[in-house]
Amino acid sequence: MTIRLHDTRAQELRDFVPLDSSNVTMYVCGPTVQSGPHIGHVRAALSFDLLRRWLQRRYGRVTFVRNVTDIDDKVLANATDAESWWGLAYRMEQEFSAAYAAVGIQPPTYEPRATASIPQMQELIARLIERGHAYPAADGSGDVYFDVRSWAGYGELTRQSVDAMEAAEDADPRGKRAPQDFALWKGAKPGEPADATWASPWGAGRPGWHIECSAMARRYLGAEFDIHGGGLDLRFPHHENELAQSTAAGDAFARYWVHNGLVTVDGQKMSKSLGNFTLAADVLAQHDPLVVRYALAAAHYRSSLDLSDSSWTEAEAALGRIRTFLERAQRTAGGDEGPAAESLPAAFASAMDDDLGVPQALAVVHETVRAGNAALDRGDVDEVRIALGAVRAMTGVLGIDPFSPEWRGTGSDTKTTTALDALVQAMIAQRAQARADKDWPAADRIRDAIGAAGITLEDTPDGTHWSIDG
Ligand SMILES: [Zn+2]
Repeated sequence: MTIRLHDTRAQELRDFVPLDSSNVTMYVCGPTVQSGPHIGHVRAALSFDLLRRWLQRRYGRVTFVRNVTDIDDKVLANATDAESWWGLAYRMEQEFSAAYAAVGIQPPTYEPRATASIPQMQELIARLIERGHAYPAADGSGDVYFDVRSWAGYGELTRQSVDAMEAAEDADPRGKRAPQDFALWKGAKPGEPADATWASPWGAGRPGWHIECSAMARRYLGAEFDIHGGGLDLRFPHHENELAQSTAAGDAFARYWVHNGLVTVDGQKMSKSLGNFTLAADVLAQHDPLVVRYALAAAHYRSSLDLSDSSWTEAEAALGRIRTFLERAQRTAGGDEGPAAESLPAAFASAMDDDLGVPQALAVVHETVRAGNAALDRGDVDEVRIALGAVRAMTGVLGIDPFSPEWRGTGSDTKTTTALDALVQAMIAQRAQARADKDWPAADRIRDAIGAAGITLEDTPDGTHWSIDG
């Protein structure tokens, strides 16, 4: 077994070899909590949830860190007289956590807030100054910049030369030696809230965004760790700058850089001006969270994912096929215990090993569902049992097993199913009575009405069962 991952720095697929095969270490950039999550945030977090689950399956243990950027220009900008920046940050952090939890994204091992690691950031900045890769601004602003020309590796991640790069827009350029230099520490400016500044050797101020992640990754995972993840939009400048800071400070830092593709809506980039900005909360209010998870997971993590109304209906139909099979198979094969570990098909595992090929893995799930349905039709109980175990094992790995404790009784499912079941059972009883009375036209009318609602009846020796057409 070898997992291969696309490494952004190498620009190719590489065999994944963890530093410690009993504990994979992974850092993923978390949200800047300035406003609530859009659907792209959920897709990014889900991509790494799927990778983490697979690594957990393969290696047993993953130490997974996803930070919260709770101090930033944008957080300060969105605070109001009625709500402090830290109150806003906490409220938005909760919105992110709720959206992640709704679609079954497992909580990180550690979820550090940037404001809780300020000493570690200052220590890293001091080390960079000492090594000649950072300097306090000459204008007395209290800013500290990373000196990009002092570090030959700068531009390595995105393969750009410094001269071709745009100026960093994260600070007033007056005190910089080169326009591409970026802020490690931002001196306090008049009008900024006093509780958004921390004392430092360079004057009161706050950290720049990039240094936050370098310091938190080091604090929680050490100077070298396995995987650094984030959205494709973070490659430059954020990840380029993280890599430069950490390596210039003497840390080996991330061994693999993994980036997920972005989300478009109806073929267009999400933007407030186009009116297609899709908030996670709106999507989750309209669709079953399991359907949302399936739809967001169905595309390969590196490809861009275009969402439209059909994304949700297709995901719903695909999940319906899985659910219907599982219900039928459990009635036939019996047992509702969890799937056996050894029942994961080899084709599924090799798809997941191959740069987390979830679309190919889902194809194996649906092939197995089809084979299982065929086995049901011909009454081959042994084959049904094998397919049932395999489908539950595979959907369990992907976090989409509708019968797992995390989804059983969540969303719209339980109440609707209970209500529908009561109605359909009443009609099944009426049909049985009509047949007992030899009132064939009435029995047919009831069966047709049930069929017109998209419900299939299955008469078995132990009674009539119903399922929604997949
Ligand atoms: Zn980051």
